Amino acid sequence: MLRLAPLVIPPDANHRVHEDDSEHKPEPATFHDAFVSGRGGVRERVFDLDSRPSALDLFLVVARVTLEIALRKEFDYLIPPELVGQVEVGSRVKVPFGPRQVMGCVTALIETSTHVNLKPLLKVIGARSLVTPGILELARWIGDYYCCAPEIALKSVLPEAVRKEREGWRERLFVRSAAPGGDSPKLTKRQQEILKIVEERRELPLQELLALAGTTANTIRRLEDKGLVAIALQVSERDPYARENILPTQPLALNAEQGKSLAQIIAVMDGSGPGVGSTTFLLHGVTGSGKTEVYLQAIAHALERGKGAIVLVPEIALTPQTVERFKARFSHGPLKTLVAVLHSHLSAGERHDEWHKIRQGRARIVIGARSAIFAPVEPLGLIIVDEEHEHSYKQEESPRYHARDVAVVRGRMEKAIVVLGSATPSLESYHNAKKGKYRLLEMPSRADDKKMPLVRVVDMRQEGNKGKGPPIFAQRLKDAITTRLERKEQTILFLNRRGFATSLQCPKCGYVAECPNCSVSLTYHRRAQRLCCHICGHAAAPPNVCPNDQCRNAAIRFAGLGTEKIEDVLTKLFPKANVRRMDSDTLQRKEDYRTILGDFRRGKIDILVGTQMIAKGLHFPNVTLVGIIHADLSLHQADFRAAERTFQLITQVAGRAGRGDVEGEVIVQTFTPFHPAIQFARRHDFTGFYDEEVGFREQLRYPPLGRVALLTLKGRNEEKVAFSAEHLRKELEKVLKDWKDLIIAGPAPAPLARAETFYRHQLMLRSGRMSHLSRELARLLMVLKLPEEVTLAVDIDPVNLA
Ligand code: ADP
Ligand code: ZN
Repeated sequence: MLRLAPLVIPPDANHRVHEDDSEHKPEPATFHDAFVSGRGGVRERVFDLDSRPSALDLFLVVARVTLEIALRKEFDYLIPPELVGQVEVGSRVKVPFGPRQVMGCVTALIETSTHVNLKPLLKVIGARSLVTPGILELARWIGDYYCCAPEIALKSVLPEAVRKEREGWRERLFVRSAAPGGDSPKLTKRQQEILKIVEERRELPLQELLALAGTTANTIRRLEDKGLVAIALQVSERDPYARENILPTQPLALNAEQGKSLAQIIAVMDGSGPGVGSTTFLLHGVTGSGKTEVYLQAIAHALERGKGAIVLVPEIALTPQTVERFKARFSHGPLKTLVAVLHSHLSAGERHDEWHKIRQGRARIVIGARSAIFAPVEPLGLIIVDEEHEHSYKQEESPRYHARDVAVVRGRMEKAIVVLGSATPSLESYHNAKKGKYRLLEMPSRADDKKMPLVRVVDMRQEGNKGKGPPIFAQRLKDAITTRLERKEQTILFLNRRGFATSLQCPKCGYVAECPNCSVSLTYHRRAQRLCCHICGHAAAPPNVCPNDQCRNAAIRFAGLGTEKIEDVLTKLFPKANVRRMDSDTLQRKEDYRTILGDFRRGKIDILVGTQMIAKGLHFPNVTLVGIIHADLSLHQADFRAAERTFQLITQVAGRAGRGDVEGEVIVQTFTPFHPAIQFARRHDFTGFYDEEVGFREQLRYPPLGRVALLTLKGRNEEKVAFSAEHLRKELEKVLKDWKDLIIAGPAPAPLARAETFYRHQLMLRSGRMSHLSRELARLLMVLKLPEEVTLAVDIDPVNLA
């Protein structure tokens, strides 16, 4: 008997209108009306996603499909008899669309369609549905909350490598030993050697055997003819970490703070603590407090309960070192499982294989950057977001989702525990913890009783340089580096700006070399002998004389500091020291990152100079000195989070010092030594900083005390952009006139007024609640008329205001 899934209309389900697939009917007047509430379209019966109906149910012969081409509509297709049983909610399918064939995702299975002449589905991709019902629901939430078309949200939840029509497993020739019956035939010594390798390994790729035995394929073929080995094509999984030699680790005995934190997490998982079901924890633990060990043991507990885990880390913290800690713990013992890794440095093939290991349930743990939040772990018990304050969790293109916030929503939907961890929590998360929305776990001291490093602030205004302006290094920093070199300890120097000089100026006429496409000055890269734009990548040879025709001054000068200059000056000051620079200019190939860090760990480098790439998560016991060259750089930004960012950066960079037996020292060079961000960071005082900063945010109703939506209009014609922005403001005022707690700021040129030849104007909306506002904005977007060359980007909860 076939069980018919119950018909349910979830109270908040997105009932959609759908149109006949062959012709374009006009959009409903207000798309969101139809999309959200079912008004404007036929109210269809939609199946509850949890019940996961399959088209085995004979009555469900129509599949509703979201196509990959952005049309903000869904289409109904007939499930042909030969595909019955293969189509599920979440299946990827190929369908006819006009004269074309396009890919889409099944979002519902229904009994009948209100449309006639439905065309049949052509093909189902993959044996199992690729998008799980949970992920499908999450994609819908993203579409609604972040104001983007559902197809765009849906597209981002599956990696490109997985969305291909054919599964991309790599097949290779493998050699297997085939135990011969009876007497072994006579073999040469060479053949015996080869056979011994094959027998020892039982099975190995042909290429590997050829390399190992130093032989040719013909020789192996001859062994095959004798019936001693078999050669066959086989799926060969790509393992990006195959070269790593990972030694198993055991759980550490937790200290009291760690134990308390873990106990609270476990209590909720076991359903014995308060907040059973889904709970979000904020784990505020200083750098080196042993947060990772808590994560590892919480994951172990989830595995014991038969559930999987997702660990999000910022892209730049996805070092082999981090990944190894997770792989090593779960590489053995009763909880042994594969740990899948997802990040942008994988090849498409590697990503495909890692993803399918998760989908097949062989990898129960996923560690990855932002988009790993969509990993199809089923059932999901735990989501960890490490360094939750990191801005790289926000995607800067549509859908502009924040992976931390998506994690919290996914946790709620799938009844999983969410742990947000940081030494410098975002004010948003800390505020949520203070309000009781998240549960706060505190670990105020370092795990191994190492002291927090001593932070000294150097006032660069006081550093004389014989009337030439401030030097690059304060005397104190130079002395400290000298001492470290003598003691064979290591130093990290941090400056969040790459290049040699940040501008090229003419002291006579005031000319500054600017990007022809963007409203920024060009940075001079000396090694490459180029003036480069860090926004659009424009590059030009530096002029020898001032390009201003009226001036032609030969004494043009470079001003401002970048990491390349720091490296250069260091090698002159400390000729015997081994200095290396790590920024995106020095990382050309994908191994460079691990090579440099490997050299640093092995002590081959005395001083490592770098941008924010070296600020996060690195753990080197021999680093006893950290220098921050220009700590106030991030303060001078037109962004309400400038102080928060500065506080976080100083605290995180300082956290790299003194992780070993010798106490660490941090020297902060600044021109604004008394700024609260710098002073609170000096004292490792997060809550002090929070209290001070929140006061300022409250006055202007900035997050965490309000929500922000940033609307950016872009176009090549500045007048049209400015005009469109004014028009948008009027429309917003009309639509939102009864909205009480709303502030509309702008329009005004964006801080980055022009980028890649596009002029940019912005409006900022601030309000107490976002979900209603998103809905209103989506409604407005559907009817808003803008000139053709002007585009509008909506960024909900933006982290980048430029
Ligand atoms: P965080 O992630 O909070 O910055 P880590 O997890 O990297 O901190 O831990 C810092 C160091 O302390 C690591 O070397 C780790 O092995 C060590 N550590 C963590 N927990 C313990 C413990 N309970 N006992 C001893 N050492 C620990
Ligand atoms: Zn540019």
